[in-house]
Amino acid sequence: MYLLPKTIADTLDKQRRTFLWSGNALKKKYHLVRWETICKSKKKDGLGIKNIRKMNVSLLCKWWWKLENEDGLWQSIVKAKYMSNNQLGRSTKVRNGRSTLFWEQPWLKSKPLCVLYPVLYDLCIDKGISVHQFILRHAQLHFSRWLPVTLFGPWVSLIDEVYSYPFENEEDKISWKMHKSGGFSTRSVYDLMTSGDTGHPFSHIWKARIPHRIKIFMWLYENKVILTKENLLRRNWQGDPSCYFCPNDENMNHLFFTCPIAKVIWGMNLDQYKIWIEHWLPSGRPVYTFCVAAVCWAIWKRRNAVCFEKNHYAILLIFCCMLVL
Ligand SMILES: [Zn+2]
Repeated sequence: MYLLPKTIADTLDKQRRTFLWSGNALKKKYHLVRWETICKSKKKDGLGIKNIRKMNVSLLCKWWWKLENEDGLWQSIVKAKYMSNNQLGRSTKVRNGRSTLFWEQPWLKSKPLCVLYPVLYDLCIDKGISVHQFILRHAQLHFSRWLPVTLFGPWVSLIDEVYSYPFENEEDKISWKMHKSGGFSTRSVYDLMTSGDTGHPFSHIWKARIPHRIKIFMWLYENKVILTKENLLRRNWQGDPSCYFCPNDENMNHLFFTCPIAKVIWGMNLDQYKIWIEHWLPSGRPVYTFCVAAVCWAIWKRRNAVCFEKNHYAILLIFCCMLVL
């Protein structure tokens, strides 16, 4: 139960990054998307891989929650020593007032009474009193001096308010503010810590009925980092920038859409897709994603066949590949 040192978290992240891009291969591969982006949720542009530091804190909070809600020797020691005034994330529904601090917890109003009545709190000697003790003492708290009229009025009204509170003969109920049910979850802490993340959701990709590796391919495509020659040159690759299918330079837009080969494929297939979509799936976007993914993936696979296997029959195979998909 401790906070992971930064150096260890960084080392683990480095290994996870390498594994993501290279797998078990020894050969070094390009890291195409920033790790911070990858660690965002799928709703915010990323792949939903957990941030180690934030996960570590979320799990620690689970221990803290156990500390708050379970009785035992170690809980009593840690509570007394470190947690007398720690309100992070929890709210208390007062019933008999035994577990709630009168001044320092927000039980009667949205803020603690020590914040709403700072001068009274300052003068009060019984600062650590519980709500239950307040009732037992019939509101007779000790102050360091007589209260002047300007303070006595608010103090009497406060006492009235306390006495009109609907106390019950049961233990106070502590609930977790960050979850609707009031129950604690590590995930709710993690979500809270990542709630400031921004980014595009790409939900059309994640919801599409296509194989997972093609989803990842389309996610890379949306991030504009498919390793075309243009992107390789940006990473200091030395080589011929031209397209494998025509004399123009190869970039993502060219390869997938404006290359004469791509145009022929799209031209041939759009008509076919239109017929399929109208016939089988009248409501659109997932099919659109499926269509774009199928054609782009097929072009990419054949492009790589020409590049790495010198397979010039690949262009013909693009059509076969799409039929399989
Ligand atoms: Zn071309």
